[in-house]
Amino acid sequence: MDDLYREQIIDRYKHPLMKGTLEPNDYSYEDDNPLCGDRIRIDMRVDEKDIVTEAAFSGTGCAISQASADLLMESVVGKSLDEVKALTKEDILELLGIELGPVRLKCALLSLKVLKAGVYGLDELEEELARI
Ligand code: ZN
Repeated sequence: MDDLYREQIIDRYKHPLMKGTLEPNDYSYEDDNPLCGDRIRIDMRVDEKDIVTEAAFSGTGCAISQASADLLMESVVGKSLDEVKALTKEDILELLGIELGPVRLKCALLSLKVLKAGVYGLDELEEELARI
């Protein structure tokens, strides 16, 4: 693991920029990763053009899960909902900047799963999650 990125992840875990909740919100969802005990809730507000104006996450868990949520929430502000829906596993890995084994990958991707669950309708969700 690259030391620079490792430091960034630990720093984000200890000093998140996007931690909190939004009430009221336009999109909110919460889920967990039972393998590691990570839990993440994501809240977003969008404007009339469906551009994300505010985003926040809350939760508990390992450094990778929480840093990934923080980086992801920072990255979605200013994006359209369509752009948010188009985010992929590769985008998360690029934000984190490190290689991850399968167990840690689940930690890293929890925030993306929660985000997608929030913005997709339930009908679309199953299909979408299968692609992550
Ligand atoms: Zn974890």
